[in-house]
This record gives sequence, C-alpha cells and structure tokens, in this order.
Amino acid sequence: MNIETKELSKIYGIGESRIIALNKANIKINGNDFISIMGPSGSGKSTLLHLLSGLDKQTSGSLTYDGRDIYSFTDRQLSAFRRQKIGFIFQQFNLLPVLTAKENIYMPLLLDKQKPDEDYLKQLANLLGIDDRLTHLPHELSGGQQQRVAIARALIMKPDIIFADEPTGNLDSRSSNEVMNLLYNIWSSMKKTIVLITHDSRIAKTANRQFVIEDGILSEVTV
Ligand code: ADP
Ligand code: ADP
Repeated sequence: MNIETKELSKIYGIGESRIIALNKANIKINGNDFISIMGPSGSGKSTLLHLLSGLDKQTSGSLTYDGRDIYSFTDRQLSAFRRQKIGFIFQQFNLLPVLTAKENIYMPLLLDKQKPDEDYLKQLANLLGIDDRLTHLPHELSGGQQQRVAIARALIMKPDIIFADEPTGNLDSRSSNEVMNLLYNIWSSMKKTIVLITHDSRIAKTANRQFVIEDGILSEVTV
C-alpha cells in the first residue's frame, strides 16, 4: 500500500500551552519502503506514528492509504483496517503476562474471530528462532525473545505494514542487532512495508529511507 500525507499537522492544547507536535508533514511511503524516523524525545515521533496508523486524528492536513482517507472511516472501520493491514511492535513488547508466547501470537486472530493458523505460526516461529519458546510465559523469556514473540504477533494477521516504535529501546546491543536483522529480513523477504521510530542513528541506518523529525518538522535525509 502507498501511504501519503499532505501538510499533516497536530496541535495540542490552546493559548499559551499550544504545542505544534507535528508541523505540516509531507511523506510518501511506498509499499516497498523500510523507513526510519529519528528524533530526540519530544520531537513528535509518537504523534506522527499515531497519526500515520490512525490511532489519533490530525488537526489539519490529510492522510491516505492507496488514495483512501482513513480518517473518514468510522471507528469500527478504522479498527478493522488497523487490525488487518497494520502490525505494531512496541518498546515494552506489550505481551499479556498470563498467556504463553503462542497464545500471545494468536491473540490478534482471536480478536478478529479467525481460526489459529498452525502452519503460519510454525513458519513465523522458525523465521524468528522461537520454535522452542512457544509454550513459555513472557517472564520466562529474555527481552530479545519477548520482542521476537511480539514480532510474530505483529505478523500473524499478514499485515502489509509494520509500525515499530523504538523496538530496540529495551534491549542490549546484541539483542538489538538481532531484532534489526530480523526486521530487515521481514522487509526484504516477506515484502512488508516497515516504518521504524527510533532515537538511535545506528538503528535508523538499517532503513532504506531515513527521516528526521525535530520540533515537529519532518524531513528526509538524503544519503
Ligand atoms: P516523541 O515521541 O518524539 O517523544 P511526542 O510525539 O510524544 O514526541 O510529543 C511531541 C510534543 O507534543 C511534545 O512536546 C509533547 O509534550 C507534546 N504532546 C504529545 N502528546 C500530547 C498530548 N496528548 N497532550 C499535550 N501535549 C502532547
Ligand atoms: P515515547 O516514549 O513514545 O516518546 P512519550 O513519553 O512521549 O512516549 O509519551 C507517551 C504518551 O503520552 C504519548 O502517546 C502521548 O500521547 C502522551 N503524552 C506525551 N506528552 C504528553 C503531554 N505533554 N501531555 C499529555 N500527554 C502526553
């Protein structure tokens, strides 16, 4: 899918406490892109990610997916769209602590009233190197393993796009490298679009297109 924003802006607050969190962002994301967005804390990364994924609505400007304005969807249409087309990966993994790795991975399917897909689960577990961890609870796994489970969960619905919000933020450098290698493989071999948010320039370099955001102003880095 192609994602395009035009002059996309988000303003929080009014009067003196008014903050332009995102200032007229223009970005065209093609289906075959691996994009990184780098910026310091408070620069507008989360705001941009929330707007791009339809978790939040803009103050002005537009966003389209293959020409469709997803902000015009009803809440129900939008959550179905997100569930089916977008996979999310977070800094804190966000696994449910009482469920096994396998149950966590299947959760999006259950929420969408779909049947578990054993073959696809096996394929993902193999790709991510967690075959022998599927019956474990999150607290029995290392950080890197938890993130790999979370990546499998993000892929189980076969989304077109993965949004990754500081996916290595809680990992040591070895696990970070492993996770970045996996994301790179998922991009190149599974043909997913990836949008990665990070404050780490080393991590950002894995992407084929790099953007920086500073004080809400987004710009592409030409490399
Ligand atoms: P980052 O993810 O890069 O840390 P954010 O997008 O969270 O940046 O924040 C950008 C700016 O918008 C910051 O100044 C932040 O304090 C402000 N901000 C973010 N969310 C809200 C909100 N819900 N209400 C008010 N201000 C907000
Ligand atoms: P991140 O680590 O992703 O940058 P933040 O600490 O910036 O997260 O913000 C976490 C959440 O809190 C964001 O999703 C944002 O909506 C909200 N938030 C951030 N800054 C503010 C603020 N100044 N006022 C209210 N909510 C905020």
